[in-house]
Amino acid sequence: MRVDVLTLFPEMFDGVFGASILGKAQEKGIVSLNAINFRAYSGNKHNTVDDYPYGGGGGMVLKAEPVFSAVEHLMEQVGTGARPRVILMCPQGETFTQQKAEELAKEEHLIMICGHYEGYDERIREHLVTDELSIGDYVLTGGELPAMVVIDSVARLLPGVLGNETSAVTDSYSTGLLEHPHYTRPAVFRDMEVPEVLISGHHSRIEAWRREQSLLRTRSRRPDLLEKAELTAKERKWLSSLDKQQS
Ligand code: SAM
Repeated sequence: MRVDVLTLFPEMFDGVFGASILGKAQEKGIVSLNAINFRAYSGNKHNTVDDYPYGGGGGMVLKAEPVFSAVEHLMEQVGTGARPRVILMCPQGETFTQQKAEELAKEEHLIMICGHYEGYDERIREHLVTDELSIGDYVLTGGELPAMVVIDSVARLLPGVLGNETSAVTDSYSTGLLEHPHYTRPAVFRDMEVPEVLISGHHSRIEAWRREQSLLRTRSRRPDLLEKAELTAKERKWLSSLDKQQS
């Protein structure tokens, strides 16, 4: 996969792209991550990429030209003929989820646009991008941190990126539920014991316990997820019996 990030602050990506799992994924050639300064596409001698809003008011607006030129140049450069996903980082966009990460992980080429300032010229939104993504209902100073969040969660899903590939499959949200609790040695720490079943060596009992814990944890922390999760009839019955006991 190739990911091109259009930003005015490419240096912000140095540490994130070079370190840990993303750094290794690039070394292995699984993903190529590029932070590109779109000021180079300003099309004017002062390298201006923003301007005052029509109609007045505070804040500067990111101009259409540099962003269109940068995206078009990248498309020509990659030249696969396939239209890449062009993603605008924006607090007004669709809220980013694990399902969206799984969808984007199937793409060959992503172009991400990081805003700064008050906003984007609306023509970017209307005529250039395929997706608008928000990482939550709050406003940051720029799209760089949101882009890093999206790239990290997409890249870790690519085959070969995580050492143990099954770990992404059982993660919270991938299964539609929150993940079960984990423990490691020692079995007793300051009188706090690991659940007996986990040291029993009984594989099917351990699996059953983990599934039950995952259901209980989801029920207490994110009951909204249970509505869409794939549950057996037996599990649904068990959960409603717990609800009845409580009421
Ligand atoms: N005036 C805009 C509004 O009210 O929607 C907010 C602009 S914000 C200060 C500047 C840039 O930060 C945005 O263009 C976007 O790229 C990025 N940004 C801020 N919060 C974000 C969020 N929650 N998710 C994704 N991007 C965000």
